[in-house]
Amino acid sequence: MSDCSLCKVPILPILWSDHNFRIVLVTDQNIKGYLRLEALEHVSEIYQLSASIRQQMFSLLNIIEINLVNIFHPDKINIASLGNMTPHVHWHIISRYKHDNYFPESIWSTPIRNNLFENTQEEISNLKHQLTSMIKQRDAEQAFDS
Ligand SMILES: [Zn+2]
Repeated sequence: MSDCSLCKVPILPILWSDHNFRIVLVTDQNIKGYLRLEALEHVSEIYQLSASIRQQMFSLLNIIEINLVNIFHPDKINIASLGNMTPHVHWHIISRYKHDNYFPESIWSTPIRNNLFENTQEEISNLKHQLTSMIKQRDAEQAFDS
């Protein structure tokens, strides 16, 4: 859809992508370790994706979650699929810390602290490398299974 911002190539850095999904690093909300998993197909609800794409989606969510824990050591991971503003299937996977600006509320609430958070270059390249290698490994295992 031409008026859908997620149908366009994002301005934010893409850490990984294939023909069904892309993983984008969200850097505009003053939060460390915040990724978005975006379906490339324009559908508004998860049930509208094919079963195999849904399966891939949950597998990617799982891989993203593991890597955020390993690299950012958050106190909690938040995973949200809202899409009220942008009705195009995507997930927010967010590392949360007890000292972040919103904890214990969601990151869309009014900030209650005023700390600065920034991903280091090392964290970003580590994340990119680990995501790519874990997804490649999963793809190899699935090819082996079938
Ligand atoms: Zn779209």
